[in-house]
Formats: sequence, C-alpha cells, structure tokens
Amino acid sequence: PDGTITSVNDAFCDISGYSREELIGAPHSIVNSGVHNRSFWRKFWTVLRTGKAWRGQICNRRKDGSYYWVNSIVMPFVSADGRIERFESKRAEETLARMGLILDDSSNEIYVFSAETLQFTLLNRGARENLGYSSTEVLGLTPIDIKPEFDAASFAEMIRPLRDGEIEMAVFETLHQRSDGSVYPVLINLHYAPEETPPVFVAIVQDITERKAREAEIERLAFYDPLTGLANRALLVDRLRRAVAGAERYENPVTVLFLDLDRFKEINDTRGHRVGDAVLKEIARRFGSVVRGSDTLARIGGDEFVLLLERGKDPQTLSIIKRLQKCVGAPIEVDGRSHSLGVSIGVASYPGSGRNPEELLQAADIAMYDAKARGGGYRFYDRAMGDHLARRLDLTERLTAAIASGRLEMHFQPIVSLADGSLTSAEALLRWYEADLGWISPSEFIPLAEERRMMDELGRYVIDRCCAQIAAWRAKGLCPPRRVAINVSAQQIEPGHLVGYMQKTLELTESSMMTDPRRSGGTLRALKRMGIQVSIDDFGTGYSSLVHLKELEIDKLKIDMSFVHDLLTDPSCMAIVSATIAMAKGLGASIVAEGVEVPEQAEALREMGCDFAQGFHFDRALPGEDFGRKWLVPPALGDESGEELRPAS
Ligand code: C2E
Ligand code: CA
Ligand code: CA
Repeated sequence: PDGTITSVNDAFCDISGYSREELIGAPHSIVNSGVHNRSFWRKFWTVLRTGKAWRGQICNRRKDGSYYWVNSIVMPFVSADGRIERFESKRAEETLARMGLILDDSSNEIYVFSAETLQFTLLNRGARENLGYSSTEVLGLTPIDIKPEFDAASFAEMIRPLRDGEIEMAVFETLHQRSDGSVYPVLINLHYAPEETPPVFVAIVQDITERKAREAEIERLAFYDPLTGLANRALLVDRLRRAVAGAERYENPVTVLFLDLDRFKEINDTRGHRVGDAVLKEIARRFGSVVRGSDTLARIGGDEFVLLLERGKDPQTLSIIKRLQKCVGAPIEVDGRSHSLGVSIGVASYPGSGRNPEELLQAADIAMYDAKARGGGYRFYDRAMGDHLARRLDLTERLTAAIASGRLEMHFQPIVSLADGSLTSAEALLRWYEADLGWISPSEFIPLAEERRMMDELGRYVIDRCCAQIAAWRAKGLCPPRRVAINVSAQQIEPGHLVGYMQKTLELTESSMMTDPRRSGGTLRALKRMGIQVSIDDFGTGYSSLVHLKELEIDKLKIDMSFVHDLLTDPSCMAIVSATIAMAKGLGASIVAEGVEVPEQAEALREMGCDFAQGFHFDRALPGEDFGRKWLVPPALGDESGEELRPAS
C-alpha cells in the first residue's frame, strides 16, 4: 500500500530490464513513464480504492528509458479488517501489449483508439514522432483532432460500416495534422477489433508525402514546361477544353492570346541557348506577373506562349495586351549585356474564332502570324487570315520534299567591278519552283527553313550545288567566276557545322554575327584560313558596329539595297553610304553595293569610291547555264581582263 515493490516475476524483470534485486524494495514509480495524466491516475485509484480490479493499458518505462505498454489488470488484495494489504499487477491477454512492443519498431505509423470514446489508447513511436506529440499529449486526443478533413459526424459515418461489420477494412487517403500545425498526406488501413476490451480501432498509417511528391513530379513533367515552370501544351489544351465547356454553360467568353517573341531567334542563334534560356525564363516571369490567377499561361514552343483568359471581356483583354507588350519591352540583361525584345500577339475567342481548343489555338496562331507579318503588335483573328497560315504549313512540308528530291535550283547573279563593269564574282541564290504555286521566293522559304532548323541541311545542299555548277562550267570549257558567294544564315555558323564544308566566299547577314563577335569569330577565322572570304550582307539594317567588323577581319561589306534605292533622292542616304564606304576602306574591307537598278546609281556609287556592285542594272540572277553563256568566257579570251578571269585553281 505504500508503493514499495515486494515481489516480481521473471517476465516482469525481462520486460522492465531491471533485475529482481533492483526491483524488490524499490518504489513502484521506478517504472512510471510519466505518460499518463492526472485524470488517468485519479480514475485508476478510484477504482482500486473501491476494492475492484483496474483494467487497462498502462505505459511503463524500462531501465534503459524506453517505454512499453502493458495491458494490465491491477488487483487490490484486501485483508480481513478491510484494509488494502497489497496490489498485484498482472499482464492481461497480451495481444495489444505485445502488439505495442512490436509496433513501436514498425516503420508504419500505428494508431489504436477506443471504439467507445474514440480516444487514442496507443500510438507507436513512428506515429508519435511524425505527429510531434508525446505519448502523454496524444492520449487525450481522438482521430478527429489530427484529421483536418474530418469532423465528428463525417468520421462517425466513415467508421460505421466497420463497426456494423459490413466491411472488414477501410482504406482511404487523408491528411494528418502535426502538433506544429503542418499537414502531411497519409494512406490509412483501418480495422475494427471488437474482441479487445474495450473494443478498439486499429489504424495502420503510411506517410505518403514522398509518393505524393513523386506523383506531383510526374504531373509536373507531363503538364509543365521544365524551363519556365509554366503549363505546357497538354495542360493548356485541357484547360481550354474545360473553359470552352464552361463557356457554354455559363455564357463566359473564352479568349486565347498567342504570344510570339520578336527577335528572340536572333539572340538564341548568336548568343547561344544558355542565354536564350535565360531570356525565356525572364520573359515567363514577367508574363506571370501580368496575368490573373484564374488565367492559364503556357509555353508551347521555343518562344511561343499562350495566355488563356476565362471570362475575358474585350476591354480587359486590351489592357492585358498592353501590359504584356510593356513587360516584354523592358530591356533584359544577361551576362552584362542588354537585349531588347518585342512580342507579336494574336487574339482568338470562343465561340467566334473556333469551336474547339484546337481551332481556337490555330486561329490565335494565325492572328499572331498576321501581326508578325505587319512588324509586330496585336491582331484579332478574322477568317481571311487562315489562308496565310495554310500556305506556311503547306510550304514547310513541301520544302523537306523539295530538298530531298533535289528540286531546288541555284541561280547566279553577277557582281561586277564598278571601275570597268567586268565580272568579279557571282552570288548564288536559291530558286524554288512548284508546278501549282509558281516561283516561291527565298525570302519566304528561308525563314521557314530556319524555324524548322533545316538550314544546316539546306546550306550543304547549296554548297554542293554550287560546286557542281562550277565543275559544269569548267567541263564546258568556261572559266568560272573567281569567287562564288553563298548566303549563310546564323544557324550555320554555330561551331562545327559549316567549316568543314566550305569552299568559296561566305556571306553573312550583318545582324546574325554582330551580336557576339567572339562566338562567330571562331567559325569565321577558320574559314578565312581556308582562303574563304567573309562578307557582311545587308549592311546598315542590323546592329552595325565597325569595331566588330575589324575584330572579325571582314573582307567585304554589302551595302543594303534600301540605301542604294534612295541614294539619288535622299541626301541623308548619300551621307550614310559615303561614310560607310570611307570607314570600311579604312578597316581594309571592300564594298559591294546591292540592288543597283539604274546607271545613275552605279555612277554615283563609283564616284563615292564603291568598288563593286550587283543589281538588275547589270543582270538578274540566272540559271547556271544562262549565266555561263552571258557572263563567262573561255580562259584564252579572258586573259586580257587580267586576274579577275583567271581560271580558279
Ligand atoms: P540577299 O542575299 O540580300 O539577296 C539579294 C536579293 O535581292 C535576291 O533576292 C536578289 O534576287 C535580289 N536582287 C538582286 N538585284 C536586285 C535589284 O537590282 N533590285 C531588287 N529589287 N532586287 C534585287 P532573292 O533571290 O529573292 O533572295 C532573297 C533573300 O533570300 C536573299 O537576300 C538571302 O537573304 C536569302 N537567300 C537566297 N538564297 C539563299 C541561300 O542559298 N541561303 C541562304 N541562307 N539565304 C538565301
Ligand atoms: Ca546575299
Ligand atoms: Ca543583301
């Protein structure tokens, strides 16, 4: 009665970790775990003092400090005079207690709660640790306290079929809330154990945070763009489908904005993909700051974004367009260099522009393309625009076939010396004829080939054709032009593509190489070592820098035909051209004027010190055979015109 242990059996020594000697004479509180609260002990003693046995689960502490649960019966032994003589504590049916021992080491979380009060009677270590409750704290709680998705009524309803024996096990996913308020997803297997006293529910709980994270990761990969984190095309189409369905039900207009960056390709081609990616991320971030939470912003291709506006009334759409344009317009810094971009926007809406997601997207794309063709800005879709896109798609498809079957032709335009009108070189220009479409301009199909990244293949095709033509002229006994110039787009001067393949003069558009001289420099220097001359095309229309011109040791500079066109009428044109000629000469480059159409232009250019010219005034680009007949002579006759017409070695 004073709490001193007077007798123990072997099992108790085993379980508690104490020896018999340590236990006998010690206070029974030696095994107190501190887990049970005051009301627990009050009940405990109330029962015992009335002379009845106490029955329940009790948590003790071992010598090594660990806890264990016992399902015990504590019996008071009362003497003849009614005084309590001693208490005996025995292990009851051992199911739960033994389970508690095993369960503490289980990697699952195990919860046992009373079927009557719903209060927890046992939580294994995994459960306690994850929840962040001590054993004491947890005993006052019920499952409802840690399941934010349930209230008393819904929980009662959920366990009813188990209690009634309709089902043996309930399996469900829900959330558990930790003592610090955080929640984690769990998968629960819940059983009812009516054979226990009192009857209990046993829940085996798996923390599925990781599985959920993996599922989220899979979803992210399937539905989000890895670069920008925005929705991808699949998710966009899904949202569009829902929006269209919702629009029907609630009469909400759905508006789709197709956004395509202007000048992005230039940055990507000349400064590399790493810089291109950084620019895209920044743009995505800026777009994101403009859109509302209810809208979907997706990236569906290289520099193509789509914004889906649900409930997109017209005035709102316009103000969003304005904000999108403004946020793209601000300069973007990457690696200490500033880039400026624009955006072309196509607008389509349901149900006016299309009846399903695919039609809507296509309509917005068409409107965007129309905006782009007008130099940027935004356009609302109308049906007449459709033909344009249809042609673009058609041409892209046919181009692949035309290259494969060798149907693209090379034509040659003479470049002459302004001093005496003699042939200096020839520029090779691609020509494409399709029986039903007629002639298709390279200005139309070269951008398509660039978009599809077909320029490498097309470039090799051009080099092969030019070499074959030179050989054909020789075979006819003609002296080929001393140099043949081919056009090369920015994609082709990426390292490793062109150098091994080059034979003659290389031309580049100015804008394609000025942006990163060091990068293009490697390719160009390698070409020059091979005796290939390098010209800058369309000079004056891109980002001019005569410094880069010097760094890259450019041989020739081609003055864009727009300057030549206005030369005689616009005095400022005259000033620009003569200044360019003077500076280029100072840097050791020679000058070719493009687009000379009348003799007065040729004369003016010659007087300004321009060396060479090209244009309809001299001749158009001609098929190889015609070019040979009109412009080439047998070697013997060409001798007196000097070096220009000496057979190439
Ligand atoms: P470009 O390199 O600036 O070529 C000059 C363009 O001006 C050619 O048009 C030529 O036919 C045209 N032209 C020549 N003289 C005159 C003239 O006096 N007046 C006018 N108004 N035009 C003149 P084309 O052949 O349609 O080529 C257009 C553009 O397509 C070329 O511009 C070039 O950038 C590109 N291109 C053509 N062939 C190739 C190629 O094999 N590879 C690459 N990468 N681009 C090519
Ligand atoms: Ca050219
Ligand atoms: Ca040109």
